[in-house]
Amino acid sequence: MANYPHLLAPLDLGFTTLKNRVLMGSMHTGLEETKDWNRVAEFYAERARGEVGLMVTGGIGPNLEGSVLPGAAMMVSQQDVDNHSVITKRVHEAGGKIAMQILHAGRYAYGPKCVAPSAVKSPISPFPPAALDAEGIEKQIADIVACAQRAQEAGYDGVEIMGSEGYFLNQFLVTHTNKREDAWGGSYENRMRLPIAVVRRVREAVGTDFIIIYRLSMIDLVPNGSTHEEVVQLAREIEKAGATIINTGIGWHEARIPTIATSVPRAAFAWVTKKLMGKVGIPVITSNRINTPEVAEEVLAEGCADMVSMARPMLADADFVAKAMAGKSAQIAPCIACNQACLDHTFSGKISSCLVNPRACYETELQITPAEALKSIAVVGAGPAGLSAAMTAAERGHKVTLFDRAADIGGQLNMAKQVPGKEEFWGLVDWYRTMVDDLGIDQQLGREVGASDLKGFDEVIVATGVVPRDPEIPGQSAPHVVSYIDVLRGKVAVGKRVAIVGAGGIGFDVAEYLVHEGTSPTESLPDWMREWGVADPAEHRSGLAPEGPQPHAPARQVTLLQRKAEKPGKRLGKTTGWIHRAALAMKDVKMIGGVNYERIEDSGILVSHGEARENPTLIAADTIVLCAGQLSDRSLADTLEAQGTPCHVIGGADVAAELDAKRAINQGTRLAAAL
Ligand code: NAP
Ligand code: SF4
Repeated sequence: MANYPHLLAPLDLGFTTLKNRVLMGSMHTGLEETKDWNRVAEFYAERARGEVGLMVTGGIGPNLEGSVLPGAAMMVSQQDVDNHSVITKRVHEAGGKIAMQILHAGRYAYGPKCVAPSAVKSPISPFPPAALDAEGIEKQIADIVACAQRAQEAGYDGVEIMGSEGYFLNQFLVTHTNKREDAWGGSYENRMRLPIAVVRRVREAVGTDFIIIYRLSMIDLVPNGSTHEEVVQLAREIEKAGATIINTGIGWHEARIPTIATSVPRAAFAWVTKKLMGKVGIPVITSNRINTPEVAEEVLAEGCADMVSMARPMLADADFVAKAMAGKSAQIAPCIACNQACLDHTFSGKISSCLVNPRACYETELQITPAEALKSIAVVGAGPAGLSAAMTAAERGHKVTLFDRAADIGGQLNMAKQVPGKEEFWGLVDWYRTMVDDLGIDQQLGREVGASDLKGFDEVIVATGVVPRDPEIPGQSAPHVVSYIDVLRGKVAVGKRVAIVGAGGIGFDVAEYLVHEGTSPTESLPDWMREWGVADPAEHRSGLAPEGPQPHAPARQVTLLQRKAEKPGKRLGKTTGWIHRAALAMKDVKMIGGVNYERIEDSGILVSHGEARENPTLIAADTIVLCAGQLSDRSLADTLEAQGTPCHVIGGADVAAELDAKRAINQGTRLAAAL
């Protein structure tokens, strides 16, 4: 407790006490939609055993028209009550507390039946909503109330009423989406009538001893959003209407400002919640990009909130709080805010998991159990695939030796961490270092191993990674042509005008690295806010700076090239690609698709366009960086196979085409779980 006195302090809500100040925020994992209630229950129970103070489920629809998608989970029948009882029973047996989020998506509902205050289509949905009449509004209130009553009947400790991120209740609050002229529109008093009515009616229905969290949008980040005065006015009314806790929502889903991505500074919006502190009498929760007990403690100690919401960090490590309590925070698997296995999955219709923790949402299937027969295992390659395999094998009791020719572990993660906006990778490598040390893995680093060194091991795992693909461009042996590896390792001087060959994940990263100089905006909140045009909502409605984004001038003039005739960056992460594209556009990076690389000259790279190789153009550049993808480094695996030594090949050494850390970690973990 001494380490985190604020974070680990109980929170007395009068009728019940939360054991600490950590809320596991709501996440759409897709688990509820599997209808495998044992699996859903185990996901939450594992986190309850990890000592989190209170959990909130993914958003559950109160009716068909309000559900996020056709087929999304709802709480509308006795069967739903029975199903959810499996979750609450398991969580309570594990000593935890859980609230169900009621999510009415309004015009964000992805279906033709969606409803909203006014018939204003959202820019992120193809479906125009129907404007509700007074009777329709009463139906929505009644459905939300009934949903809360069923949640109570199912044994939940409370509900969270989703009133932020631009969903239904939020849509009533602002003139951007509420064009009504009746009692539910016009003045702010009228526009906030619905959220208040919902909270009051839910409180009347559930009685006093039931948690009602209201998630309130404290900075909308869209044109014509709320002012801070309106936020305070609403919060006070929500308190009067009977809410137990106010949770923070940051930005509407349609906002063009990143709010949770890895390039957002840690705790970037805690100051927004702090503005509400002292203005309401009920506890206030802050949120967004809080991912370590240290950051959470600091936020609470600075009086930004009474409680901290962390959602994705609880995917990365179900034992986050338990480890903090035990003084083992260095062992907490860090959420690097990449979205690759959680939100990107959700938005692709797949079940969420976690890049650093493939067990997340797979608790019933992927079990790490003590090995029946202990073996000696060699793992060659200390990148994400090898590290995951080594750690999982060691956790199971195997004797593991980890080899790498580099003097440190981390592999490609060490390059990623050099990129401005990817500072979280430092913490990830530190975590792996802690774990391989604590698990007693024999680390043979700075040592090139051959097939003959691997005799005598029961199992050999080859995770030797990748080598850069040679794009074979005439003239590429010139001294001003360099590989991304040398650039990201700081081994070469890079000129002021740069052409990058290849616009994949690494091409984008290299461009980001080269347009910045000095402190990364991710490490400086004022700089980051200026870059993206975020302002104090007390000064500027919705928290949008009137002058818009004010990025620093780029450190270099960069042109990003690819052969495919499609928008560069199209294949980047589903929920983060737009941020990378926007960040580079702000730095005047030219992105050109559909080129052929004709030859490299002293003054740049000559490209032509299209199949007919038309319009030869010289892209003037002092330095040309090759980021043309990767090939598997299978040299060791091939030698082992040739001499008849069986081995397991994982990560980039196995498949380079789809190489990414998510696949590598998942493959390494699953292999070692089965050895
Ligand atoms: P990638 O995403 O596959 O992109 C390779 C790029 O090279 C593409 O733009 C491709 O486009 C181009 N290319 C392919 N063959 C070429 C050739 N023969 N000549 C010229 N250009 C060629 O690969 P990546 O950027 O190397 O990223 C690999 C993986 O690492 C990704 O899955 C990503 O998730 C992950 N990643 C790693 C890091 C890191 O720092 N380690 C950073 C970001 C991402 P065209 O074929 O259209 O020209
Ligand atoms: Fe965090 Fe990435 Fe895991 Fe999502 S996938 S929980 S963002 S580390």
